Amino acid sequence: MTAGSRPIAFCSTAIRALASGLLGPAATTVARQTLKAERSLSAQVWAFAAKSAGVDLVHHNVFFCAGPKAEFDDLHAGRPPRAPTIYLCAQDRGLPDAPPERERFEIILNAPPLCGLSHPSEEFAPCQTRTFLTLARFGLRFDPLPEAFALTTPGRFERLFPASLGSLYGQSPHAMMAAFQRPTARTPIAGLYLAGSGAHPGAGVPMATLSARHAAEAILSDRTLTSTCPQTAMPGGTSTA
Ligand SMILES: Cc1cc2nc3c(=O)[nH]c(=O)nc-3n(C[C@H](O)[C@H](O)[C@H](O)COP(=O)(O)OP(=O)(O)OC[C@H]3O[C@@H](n4cnc5c(N)ncnc54)[C@H](O)[C@@H]3O)c2cc1C
Repeated sequence: MTAGSRPIAFCSTAIRALASGLLGPAATTVARQTLKAERSLSAQVWAFAAKSAGVDLVHHNVFFCAGPKAEFDDLHAGRPPRAPTIYLCAQDRGLPDAPPERERFEIILNAPPLCGLSHPSEEFAPCQTRTFLTLARFGLRFDPLPEAFALTTPGRFERLFPASLGSLYGQSPHAMMAAFQRPTARTPIAGLYLAGSGAHPGAGVPMATLSARHAAEAILSDRTLTSTCPQTAMPGGTSTA
């Protein structure tokens, strides 16, 4: 299989979809390590508008849990942390204009990716209780509380990005050489290149952008090497002052 005469860059968090066969059997030779590699974390993400009270929020806020070891023990056991650390982005704070009465908020809680384990994180009510009871203990209240459609779960991330297992950052970055085990830009399929947070060097907008640069450099270099135009001497001279 080739990707045709024009190079294609497959840009995605879910490069694992290729090896999984979701883009056809010929693409299963690409990034095969993603099938066996441990996945990075997923998350439960709330996006909603509400009035807040009780805490003087800034743009970025982190509410740390009392015991990070217990939080990560829960994640390794495949369940959402019972006592989570909560990141809250008050998107209308820190801007030149005063925030509206009903502000936009994004809340992120770490969650395990889907690994065939039972996944209580799919349930709206427990997640709502865990999130907003924890914040209430810090004195922070919201009115109204967000409804189910405001919550994105690991299962919903998997549905949005099939074969990702809900994992937000591709392969797990946890090991000395993990960054070097990620898929690189070139693939066994001529003309098909990988970019995005599932590729080397890693997740996050700056890293995904770097991977796009690697893919662009690979495309330019390969097209130069495979040029079908024969080298030739140019007629004429060079005009110099
Ligand atoms: C909740 C959350 C918060 C984050 N916060 C940060 C942060 O603060 N800072 C940071 O640096 N990173 C953050 N990240 C990570 C960052 O968003 C990702 O690492 C980065 O966006 C990955 O870029 P990408 O191009 O690989 O994938 P994406 O940004 O996911 O882009 C893939 C694109 O492909 C499109 N697409 C998918 N399937 C198809 C299809 N079949 N046909 C056509 N188009 C398709 C999608 O709609 C999407 O636009 C966050 C991620 C999440 C989930």
